[in-house]
Amino acid sequence: MKEFDVVVIGGGPGGYVAAIRAAQLGLSTACVERWIGEDGNPALGGTCLNVGCIPSKALLDSSHHVSFLRDEAKQHGINSSGVTIDVHKMIKRKSGIVQTLTQGIAGLFKKNKIEWLQGSGKLTADKQIEITPLDNEKEPFRVLAKNIIIATGSVPFNIPPAPVDNELIVDSTGALNFTDVPRKLGIIGAGVIGLELGSVWSRLGSEVVIFEALDDFLPSVDRQIAASAEKILRKQGLDIKLGTRVTGTGSNNREVTVTFEENNEKEQLSFNKLIVAVGRKPNTDRLGVEESGLELDDRGYITVDDHCQTNLENVYAVGDVVRGPMLAHKASEEGVAVAERIAGKPGHMNYNTIPWVIYTWPEISWVGKTEQTLKQEGIPFRSGSFPFLASGRARALGTTEGMVKVLSDQKTDRILGVHILGPAASELISEAVVTMEFEGSAEDLARTIHAHPTLTEAVHEAALAVDDRAIHF
Ligand code: FAD
Ligand code: NAD
Repeated sequence: MKEFDVVVIGGGPGGYVAAIRAAQLGLSTACVERWIGEDGNPALGGTCLNVGCIPSKALLDSSHHVSFLRDEAKQHGINSSGVTIDVHKMIKRKSGIVQTLTQGIAGLFKKNKIEWLQGSGKLTADKQIEITPLDNEKEPFRVLAKNIIIATGSVPFNIPPAPVDNELIVDSTGALNFTDVPRKLGIIGAGVIGLELGSVWSRLGSEVVIFEALDDFLPSVDRQIAASAEKILRKQGLDIKLGTRVTGTGSNNREVTVTFEENNEKEQLSFNKLIVAVGRKPNTDRLGVEESGLELDDRGYITVDDHCQTNLENVYAVGDVVRGPMLAHKASEEGVAVAERIAGKPGHMNYNTIPWVIYTWPEISWVGKTEQTLKQEGIPFRSGSFPFLASGRARALGTTEGMVKVLSDQKTDRILGVHILGPAASELISEAVVTMEFEGSAEDLARTIHAHPTLTEAVHEAALAVDDRAIHF
């Protein structure tokens, strides 16, 4: 039987990054992965590369060009009449990007001498791994592992009123592969996926209605930023119905009818497609949880300590399958930290500086605490904000909606949170993450020279505003 220092189960951003780091540290490493890509071949990269971060951003970028040409080009003196959309080509481009990147991971595995065991991995009672090959003809086999890292990710939640049929009712994966633009598109859930995929198809011409059970829009986002974002997204055409309960769906061949309760009234709307995006659940399907004695919490996540150690010795778990935000970069960093600890190094993970991004336009990003959590926790703070309206670069771009907000400790001035709604917010947030990682203050940011004219000046000015000395506002 083959033996490895490390066997990783799952080849998404948690698993493949853990495998590469382990191999870099000289540990003999294998990764078990069962994903079959769109082309019918085994694929690495997990949810993120195959049906998550990457394909959704490819479509967000393509559709952003469409909305630029349709709604903004004129302001720049560009006549863009006659623009047409080739959905087939757009989807093909997206699939090509996915394929290039997933094959790239296979190349990295080869380069790092990581063995890719193609099949479904299961923990056994004696803490080894049994692999059922993708090729059904082949017999299951076992490998020995000194250390096991579980990175089996997550899968979409289903809700009884809207069972996914992959025809009219789809999950996020189906919504990345529509063959034409649905005239009327319903979405259940105004979370990250609902807003991102709603933006894609709305920009391409769908009339989008989003049903959200909660009364508040993006409750974990800074309230001021969430309120501005809601206003902008509604103006862009997303009909967001807050406090709405979907009670049932019915479909004929062409349309799906959604029955919902709004203000205690029962109502119905029909759509050409309906996306269900109500969150994701940890994936421990066929993992041998009971057989191995692996402990799960009451919501189905694998129980781990601060170092991603499970209740079983030398068995670790990272990424979406454990507590914490379901984000690719969180999964990868946990993977690196665990691989380093296995190699006897002080692997480290700072959960206080994980950035969040919602890739609408303008983008929404944040790191650290919001004003509301600081108030709840009784932490005195100072706040400084700066609108993109007053940024020369944002004016030149023609995108002046949104703002940057910096929150710092009232006594020490240490930055506690940064919140951005604006162009390239996904990139701008990194400066805040680095400053927080170094335990920097608003004054540190304020005294740092920022190139002119750039959008980063808005971060600089918000830091200056903490001390009431913003120059341009
Ligand atoms: P996964 O990526 O889910 O990978 C788990 C892998 O394990 C899968 O490949 C699966 O096949 C494999 N597996 C499971 N069980 C077994 C088994 N028993 N044997 C063998 N293999 C197994 N996050 C961001 O940070 N930024 C974004 O922009 C972003 N956009 C997203 C858009 C969409 C539409 C979706 C759905 C998600 C998005 N996410 C985004 C979330 C991100 O994809 C996840 O947080 C990330 O993929 C989690 O990584 P992971 O390695 O934990 O799990
Ligand atoms: P989410 O938790 O962000 O949003 C789900 C939304 O659905 C919530 O607002 C919830 O209140 C609502 N909801 C739940 N049940 C409902 C019901 N029965 N009727 C109406 N509304 C209901 O989850 P998601 O959008 O599915 O995304 C899943 C995960 O994927 C997220 O946690 C996120 O971490 C990750 N993701 C990240 C990115 C990114 O980083 N840009 C992009 C996409 C997905």
